[in-house]
Amino acid sequence: MVRCSKLIASMLPLFALTTQHALADDKQDFSSMQMQGVEQIEVKVDLDNAVKRLSKAVQFKTISNQDRNDFDEQAFNDYHEFIKQSYPLVHKTLKREIIGDPRPFSLLYTWKGKDPSLAPAIFMAHQDVVPIAEESRDQWLVEPFSGAIKDGYIWGRGVLDDKNQIHAILEATEMKIKQGFQPSRTIMFVFGHDEEVGGPEGAKSAADLLEKRGIKEIAFVIDESAPLTPGIFPGIRENTALIGIAQKGFISLELAINSVGGHSSQPPLESNIVALAKAVTKVEAAQFPYKLHDAVRYQYRFMGPELPKEQQAMYKAVAYGDNDNLTQLEKDFINAMAANQVTRSMIHTTTAVTMFNAGIKDNVLPPSATAVVNFRPMPGDTPEVIIEHVKNAIQDERITVRDISASTPATNVANPHGQGYKLLEKTIRQTWGNDLIVSPFFVMGGSDSKHFQARSFAPDVYTITGIQLESTKEFEGFHGVNERILIEEYGRSIGFFYSLIDNLEDL
Ligand SMILES: [Zn+2]
Repeated sequence: MVRCSKLIASMLPLFALTTQHALADDKQDFSSMQMQGVEQIEVKVDLDNAVKRLSKAVQFKTISNQDRNDFDEQAFNDYHEFIKQSYPLVHKTLKREIIGDPRPFSLLYTWKGKDPSLAPAIFMAHQDVVPIAEESRDQWLVEPFSGAIKDGYIWGRGVLDDKNQIHAILEATEMKIKQGFQPSRTIMFVFGHDEEVGGPEGAKSAADLLEKRGIKEIAFVIDESAPLTPGIFPGIRENTALIGIAQKGFISLELAINSVGGHSSQPPLESNIVALAKAVTKVEAAQFPYKLHDAVRYQYRFMGPELPKEQQAMYKAVAYGDNDNLTQLEKDFINAMAANQVTRSMIHTTTAVTMFNAGIKDNVLPPSATAVVNFRPMPGDTPEVIIEHVKNAIQDERITVRDISASTPATNVANPHGQGYKLLEKTIRQTWGNDLIVSPFFVMGGSDSKHFQARSFAPDVYTITGIQLESTKEFEGFHGVNERILIEEYGRSIGFFYSLIDNLEDL
């Protein structure tokens, strides 16, 4: 689950802006880009039994702990077996593989299409869930892994993040197979086992595997992100569906110095600790420049026309601007974003010094010292670019720089004007109606699909969680207490994937 609350908070300060440039004349059209007149469809679902299956799914404690040695293999094996028993047609028709490196607990399903010349599509979701914080346990109204069905909801850890998506996909597929349907293009499901810790074992292996098998292009990927929520975007009271089109990357660099130590009674002019401290200081001072990434521009192109009139001139400038020739309105936007710690992260690659280790005794000069700097790269800033940037900032041959993370580069940007986006918007409107705003957005967190979206073979990755929340208050369930899903809404979510399978025929 991406950090929704953070992402939402990041949009807030923009609305406190007062712009002197309001309603500036501009020839560029800035009218609504919302799809019109889509007919709503109600998909008939055997909801009682689907609810029982999701309730049972929640009872498997497929937890991703920060300590990776604390891993319950049995819980995953039992969950796999339960899935197999629950969807007989899926398991008769699709190929199932258990993959992951070094631990194989992710599931890869392949639903062979009729036309092998068409590039495949991928539906992603994750099996693992975050642990229950001990101090929050007494705030839960039900046992967190009970899968209680009560008051019109299914309750429990993972019921919103993200077992609901695994099971909605499988329910929809079981229905389609029962009706004799076979997709034109191959559809694969990737259900990772370590999304909550970055997906290095599951989703990354899946991407490696498909690349190794020679798949040149993946036409469409859908993965979790923000659910539909009224008021998710301040200034718009309407229901809003945000479709993630790009995700930030992740890289941690270790800076180290290894030279001679010695006795503290005869110190050199510069100790290892000071040399490294200077290097770290330079890295923090050399902040990456602010820029308006295409994903942010696209976001305002779709969202801007739906926002209050007074600020539309600025949003329009952002939507259609050009990085080589920033206008005053775009600069105003950047300044407003940069003034706030949260929004600032949307407009550049962030630099965070997170660890510093040296020395073991008060009278010993340590022979080495290490520090770790964590970066969240903007799309476009590759690990190579970042390492180069750091070395240039330090200008010290004694300091070594090493990537110690299972780094993921920043992703490509999915095309919000392409057929994939359009069919997704159509599916959203078929499921939840036309009384909502649909917009692309730049995801500040990331989910398993980043392992695909960062590669050239899967440019069009779209992320959205196909459920409707009643209000922003329900976000508290994600990684928090009283995670629950409305039964009725779970039914709609199954319908969403059912319609998506149909609509993919038009891709
Ligand atoms: Zn998740």
